[in-house]
Amino acid sequence: MLVLSVAVLLLLKTGLSSIGTVRGCVIMTESEFDVVVIGGGSTGTAVARDCAMRGFRTILLERDDIASATVGTCAGMISSGLKYMEEPEIVDMCSQEVVYFNRIARHIVTKLPILTPMLEMSDLSSGGNFAEEYSKRAATRDVPPVLFLTPEDTREIEPSVHPDIIAAMYFEEFFIDPFRYCLLQALDAKNHGAEVNTYCEVVDIQQEGSGDSYRVNYYNRTTGDMESTTTQAVVNAAGPWAPDVAKNAGAEVEIRPNKGAHVIFDRRIVNVGIITKAVDGRMIYLFPHENTTLLGTTALDSWEDPDTLVASQDEIEYLMKSIEFVVPSIRKARIIRTMEGVRPLVADWKIPEDDVTRGYEVIDHADAGMPGLYSFTGGKLVMARHMAEAVTDRLCQLLGNHAPCRTHEVPLPGNEDDVNIEALAKKYGVPMHTLERMRARRGTEIEAILDLAQENPEWKTNICTCEPVTEAEIRYAIREEFPHTLNDLRRRVRLGTGTCQGTFCTYKAAGILADELGLEGEDYIVDILDFRAERWKGIRPVLRGEQLAQEELAQGVYSCVGNLDQSDVEYDLKPWEEGMQ
Ligand SMILES: Cc1cc2nc3c(=O)[nH]c(=O)nc-3n(C[C@H](O)[C@H](O)[C@H](O)COP(=O)(O)OP(=O)(O)OC[C@H]3O[C@@H](n4cnc5c(N)ncnc54)[C@H](O)[C@@H]3O)c2cc1C
Repeated sequence: MLVLSVAVLLLLKTGLSSIGTVRGCVIMTESEFDVVVIGGGSTGTAVARDCAMRGFRTILLERDDIASATVGTCAGMISSGLKYMEEPEIVDMCSQEVVYFNRIARHIVTKLPILTPMLEMSDLSSGGNFAEEYSKRAATRDVPPVLFLTPEDTREIEPSVHPDIIAAMYFEEFFIDPFRYCLLQALDAKNHGAEVNTYCEVVDIQQEGSGDSYRVNYYNRTTGDMESTTTQAVVNAAGPWAPDVAKNAGAEVEIRPNKGAHVIFDRRIVNVGIITKAVDGRMIYLFPHENTTLLGTTALDSWEDPDTLVASQDEIEYLMKSIEFVVPSIRKARIIRTMEGVRPLVADWKIPEDDVTRGYEVIDHADAGMPGLYSFTGGKLVMARHMAEAVTDRLCQLLGNHAPCRTHEVPLPGNEDDVNIEALAKKYGVPMHTLERMRARRGTEIEAILDLAQENPEWKTNICTCEPVTEAEIRYAIREEFPHTLNDLRRRVRLGTGTCQGTFCTYKAAGILADELGLEGEDYIVDILDFRAERWKGIRPVLRGEQLAQEELAQGVYSCVGNLDQSDVEYDLKPWEEGMQ
C-alpha cells in the first residue's frame, strides 16, 4: 500500500501519466531493450557483457548488488576439472576457459600450487586417472604436468602436513577474485552500452503482442518505484532463484539445489593449497585465499531458503575432522567465519549429489510457447563466459544478429598492461605491500587511484588495515563502481573481510560512504548495523575460542563506544524496503 501511495504522490508531483499497474503498484517508468538479463552473478554479468559487445540494447536487472549471492560464496577456483574426470568434455571446456581467463582478466587471476598428500597406499590410486588427464592438458594451461613428491619434499613445501605421509601429488590451479570478475564484466557491459541496474527485483514477466515480446516489471528498491521494460528476449540467470523467476513468467524451471559451506581462518595458515579425501571419500580442500585460508566444501541436497542459509555445526565439524587427517594442527587455527551458498545444479535425480553433472543447460522456453525466454540451470563460475556465449549465440539466431563472440579476446578493464609496483611505490610514496594488494584488485586502474591520493595526500591512509585498503581506493570505488552500501563496498575492495571482520574499518568507511553519497543520520546508522549483521551471520556458527574475544571487542566498539545497541533505528529493513511491506 505504501508503495502505491508513494507512487501516486510522485505521479501528482511530476505530472507523469500512469503506464499501468502491477501487483497494485503504479508503474513509474518504461523503457525498451533487445535483451533483459535477470541476475547479476557470474552468469548474468557474463551474458550482459556478451550481449552488449554484440550490439544488443541490453539491460541487466539485479535485485541486490553485483555478485551478492552464490558466486560471492565460492572459492573462485577456475579449475582444470579435477572433480569432473568422468565428464571429459567439461574438463576440456574448463581447461580452455582458464586460457581465456588468463588472457582477459590476468590482473585478478592467481596461480596456486596444490598438494594432495597420501597417508596410505590406497590413496595413491584414489585420484583415478587424474594425473594422466591433468598432465595431458597442462601445456595448454601453461602449468607443469603432475609431479609425485617424497614425504621430505612435501614437508619442505608445506611443514604442516602430517609427518606420516608416504607421498604427495603436486599440481597447479588458477583462481579468480569472483567479486571483481563479476563487477568488471558489469562495468565492461556498461562500457559497451548496457544499462546495469542493481537493487531492481523482477516481479512479473508478461508475454505481449503475438507472443514474441515481453514486458518485464521490476521493483526499484532504491527509489521505491515500480518500473517496466519491453523486450524481445529475456535471459533468466538467477542461479538458485531461477525457478522463482521463471514462475513470474508462467514458465517452469527445475534445479537440484545443493548447498556448500566454507570455514574461513584468520590468516594464510598454509603456504600452498591442500586437496584431500574427506571422511566420506569426497574431495575437500584447504586454500590460502587473499589474506585468509578457506576450508571447503560440503555438497548437500538442500531445500532451505537460499536467502537465509548459514553453515550448520555438522558441516563445520565434517570439514574440520576431514582436514585434520592431513593437517593435524588445524584445530589450533582461529576460525573467523563461515560462508554458505547454494549451487543451482542441473535437475538430475536418483544419483548421489556429488555425481550430479557440473555442466550446464540452457532451457529454451519456446518449447512451452515462450520464444525468446531462456533459463540457465547448472554451471560454474569457471564456465560463466562459455554459458554466456552459448545463450548469446541463440539470441543472435533469434534476432538476426551476425556479430561474433569476442568475450574471450577483449580484456576486461584493468588488464590492459603490466603494472610496475616498485616504480609506483617510489613515485607516489605508498608502501609496496599496499600497492601489491591494490594491483591484485585493480590492474592498470591503480594509477587513477594513486592520482586521486596524490591530489589528497591524506587519502593514502589505510582505512582497512587487514587487507590493506586506502581511503583513495574506497573513494574511487564509490565514485566509479556504483556501491549503495557498506556491504557493496566490501565486495568492491574486500573491506571488513580480513582478520578483524570489520571491527576497525566499518565506522571509518561508513563516514567516507556517507560523505560521498550524501547520506545522513538514520541511513548512515542503518548501513553500519546492516554491515555488522551481515558479518555476524557468518561469525555466529563459529563463535568459540579466540574468536570470542575478537567478537567481544567488536561488540564493545559498536554497542558500547558507538552506542549502536541503544539506537531505536529499525535496522532489519533498509529504507527502500519499508515500501515493500
Ligand atoms: C560453496 C560453493 C563453492 C563453489 N566453488 C566454486 C569454484 O571454486 N569454482 C567455480 O567455478 N564454481 C564454484 N561454485 C559454483 C558457482 O559459485 C556457481 O555455479 C555460480 O557462481 C552461480 O552463479 P550464478 O550467476 O548462476 O548465480 P548467483 O551468483 O546466485 O546469481 C544469481 C543472481 O540473481 C539474482 N536474482 C534472483 N532473483 C532475482 C530477481 N527476481 N530479480 C533480479 N535479480 C534476481 C540474485 O540476487 C543473484 O545475485 C561454488 C558454489 C558453492 C555454493
